[in-house]
Amino acid sequence: MSLQEYKEKRNFRQTPEPVAKERKTDKQRIFVVQKHAASHLHYDFRLEDEGVLKSWAVPKGPSMNPADKRLAVMVEDHPLDYASFEGEIPEGNYGAGIVEIWDSGNWELNDDAVNVEDALQTGSLEFSLNGKNLKGKFILFKMKKAGENNWLLIKKKDEYAITEKYDANKIKPVGE
Ligand code: MN
Repeated sequence: MSLQEYKEKRNFRQTPEPVAKERKTDKQRIFVVQKHAASHLHYDFRLEDEGVLKSWAVPKGPSMNPADKRLAVMVEDHPLDYASFEGEIPEGNYGAGIVEIWDSGNWELNDDAVNVEDALQTGSLEFSLNGKNLKGKFILFKMKKAGENNWLLIKKKDEYAITEKYDANKIKPVGE
């Protein structure tokens, strides 16, 4: 697990984002979704694993409707401290724009026996979220034919799933 790419992309004298510091993961793993109004609005979906945040950029944002397959582009690991980051990344810096916390909480594997690294290598991770906006079972899986970093984030059918149209832009960020 390395934050090298995260470090290389940023100048910490110019951006208020957290420096790259690796930390130990507690038993309770956190997740966060940050609404990021950069050159293109997107949602950064992050799951804590092994002391860092595994991260995907989701252009349309997550959905609670299992009919939606949301493109999620895997990006560089972020430091755990990033989970509480909100603010403005100044013009001229990587990812310049406003970051706000859209949702946060804990996540867990649907099957305790699964090793997260192995699941990510295989390209299929099933998990549950306990957030304010996002709840219940989800799956992330890697698209085989597309670019190597393209995944799909999909809600699984459960008691939290909805059948109505879901638009993350219309859901209030938890930070507000
Ligand atoms: Mn972003």
